[in-house]
Amino acid sequence: MHVETRVQAINCLHFINGQFVESQNQKTFANINPATEEVLGTVAEGGKEEVNFAVAAARRALNGNWKNTTVEERSKILRRIGDLILERQEELARLESLDTGKPFWLANSVDIPRAAYNFHFFADFMVSVNTDANLQDDKALHYTHRRPVGVVGIIKPWNLPLLLLTWKLAPCLAMGNTAVIKPAEWTPMTATVLMEICKEAGVPDGVVNLVHGFGTNSAGSAISEHPDVDAISFIGEPGTGSAIMRAASTSLKKLSFELGGKNPNIIFADSDLEEVIETTIKSSFINQGEVCLCGSRIYVERPIYEEFLDKFTKKVKALKVGKPENADTNVGALISKEHYDRVNSYLEIARNDGGNFLTGGKRPEGLDEGYFLEPTIITGLDRNSRCVREEIFGPVVTVTPFDMEEEVIMQANDTHYGLSATIWTNDLRRAHRVAHQIEAGIIWVNTWFLRDLRTPFGGMKHSGIGRTGGMHSLDFYSELSNITIKL
Ligand code: NAD
Repeated sequence: MHVETRVQAINCLHFINGQFVESQNQKTFANINPATEEVLGTVAEGGKEEVNFAVAAARRALNGNWKNTTVEERSKILRRIGDLILERQEELARLESLDTGKPFWLANSVDIPRAAYNFHFFADFMVSVNTDANLQDDKALHYTHRRPVGVVGIIKPWNLPLLLLTWKLAPCLAMGNTAVIKPAEWTPMTATVLMEICKEAGVPDGVVNLVHGFGTNSAGSAISEHPDVDAISFIGEPGTGSAIMRAASTSLKKLSFELGGKNPNIIFADSDLEEVIETTIKSSFINQGEVCLCGSRIYVERPIYEEFLDKFTKKVKALKVGKPENADTNVGALISKEHYDRVNSYLEIARNDGGNFLTGGKRPEGLDEGYFLEPTIITGLDRNSRCVREEIFGPVVTVTPFDMEEEVIMQANDTHYGLSATIWTNDLRRAHRVAHQIEAGIIWVNTWFLRDLRTPFGGMKHSGIGRTGGMHSLDFYSELSNITIKL
């Protein structure tokens, strides 16, 4: 089936104080379709000036009527935003697919429904938040009072643009904050449409602001440095996280970081191999491998190593790399020329390090334009190869055999990252034992990407600071005061 994707790509403007506006100096940059290398439209290029306007608008809105809205009123607005996202689901999915190169069916079945659910989930969750009270004998009553943190900068990556933006914006608004958002420069479209949706849903002017632009010396650093931004919620690379932390340190901003991963997928010989392979195809190559949770380091216990490789490689060879609009496409285009070159440079490293390519490693035949790469399986690399240690963020996995439980735990932890891990085994005691020793914030046993939005989400080591999800998110977006009444 071929899906019509001639949705008008949009020219993206900033959204400041409830209005779509150009940059003061009228500067724009081109938005490129990664599947065709054609220009989709223009994007206003913001900098310090636009960020100053946006932060001032957010501060005024924070001190205005937004402060006096009740939890029920804000919950209703969140619910309405979720509903409007679903009303425009197909349009948003098409824009997301055009912007990112991911298959339309994936955007339409995962990214956009989950973006709506992020709002619906927090609309329900926020009304159940209670405060603590401690009665200290007959001396005093202590109780906690929760208030917004203030103006929050939300800085986003390009891999799951609307899904991740809404994951941050919903709890931010739930707790009564105002926001200045900077989407990734490569994926500006769905964030822009979300601003229309927020306005239609009744979000007052200035509560949500959007400034397009780049990172360093552009809109990104302007938000991180701004003295009147109280907190930053950032998703992206660890190196960018460090830069933001340095910039934010002058004004001691509150920080939430969700960073990269080099996640181990550990397969013991007693697991159900058919199920392992089916899930491992997804955990390796869904969204072109451009998901922070992808299990890019696969460790297989020696007795099933050859059988795994044989069956896995056959299935991976059958994956269809193709145009994002085609319903039978499994793997779409990588996000940009720059990223495509970066992923290819890792393949070069693998070749130089003596890696054995079981499949992939090249552009698929017949796809001459666009940033397409065949799903790639590499074996035979030393654990010190950069391909085994660093995040590639593309359709590339390494597979390594292991003999002992302790050995695989050591290898799994032998990285600066600590985002997620998957353990495949039917031995209950081993599952718990290994899970307790893997240094990762999210550990799945016999599954992958099974999420419950109440649970803590985030990484340790260089994979992040803090957790989001349910109350963890609401804690970040609020400040607690303890109030003591002497009795
Ligand atoms: P990136 O760090 O290059 O960019 C992310 C955002 O930061 C962009 O909007 C960019 O413009 C901005 N930015 C860049 N330099 C900046 C600076 N100096 N100051 C302020 N802002 C700046 O990341 P990316 O390439 O867009 O995304 C891929 C990365 O994101 C991968 O490492 C991936 O693992 C990670 N990621 C993590 C999660 C998670 O939940 N842990 C989810 C998705 C992606």
